[in-house]
Amino acid sequence: MSSSLEIAVRVGCYTVVFAGMALWEWFAPRRQLSVGRQPRWANNLGILAIDIITVRLLVPTTAVGVALIASERGWGLFPILGLPYWGALVGGIIALDFVIYIQHRLFHYLPALWRLHRMHHADLDIDVTTGVRFHPLEILLSLAIKIATVAVLGVPATAVLIFEVLLNATSMFNHSNVAIPQQLERIVRWIVVTPQMHQVHHSIERAETDSNFGFNLPWWDRLFGTYRANPKAGEDRMVVGLPIFREVAELNIIRMLTQPFRNNPVQRH
Ligand SMILES: [Zn+2]
Ligand SMILES: [Zn+2]
Repeated sequence: MSSSLEIAVRVGCYTVVFAGMALWEWFAPRRQLSVGRQPRWANNLGILAIDIITVRLLVPTTAVGVALIASERGWGLFPILGLPYWGALVGGIIALDFVIYIQHRLFHYLPALWRLHRMHHADLDIDVTTGVRFHPLEILLSLAIKIATVAVLGVPATAVLIFEVLLNATSMFNHSNVAIPQQLERIVRWIVVTPQMHQVHHSIERAETDSNFGFNLPWWDRLFGTYRANPKAGEDRMVVGLPIFREVAELNIIRMLTQPFRNNPVQRH
């Protein structure tokens, strides 16, 4: 697989899912936004641009590139176990999703990592652009963890590409402000993390912030006791964000980048 093909697939899927979710939000929103699209969209999409540029400048390869090297050299647990290709493909996708779940819990549990990750939680509304709002240092760390997992397990390159596309797509889906009929949503949340399920994770209540860590598969939260069906305050009355960084000025891109390094939020005047 050439790197230009990888980029084409990823950018293509990203754009289609983003546009689809943005349109769905526009025509059938679930919640009324408290701040709205401006200034959030420009700043959240600005962070996405910074993340892409940072990774391209600092990391000479992608997780898919590492998977190709690993398969050439026979690295990893999957080849040692003699797993058939389909086993390694499906096993690789599920294993990567589990690692991302563990990583997400660590980002909440370890104070230094929480400082990086809390920028994602400081958004005062949740919509499709919250799904791309991650601090560049968190993106770099997450990429390093993904690359290590791929090398240690020997995940096939196709599985890594599918996983990357899925993770981007489900992140945009489960942050989007879309209305899904309740009966359908109750079924879908057994298969994939839904917006109603992930919104609990963006509640201002810490116990609720520390639940529903999954991005793709909803099973890890149910297995490890971190699943919460609904926010205590109810879907419409749940307050989004963190107790710190409550002012609209904190949604500015420069302030977002400095949030991990300060505990002094902008004060209300
Ligand atoms: Zn989180
Ligand atoms: Zn989130």
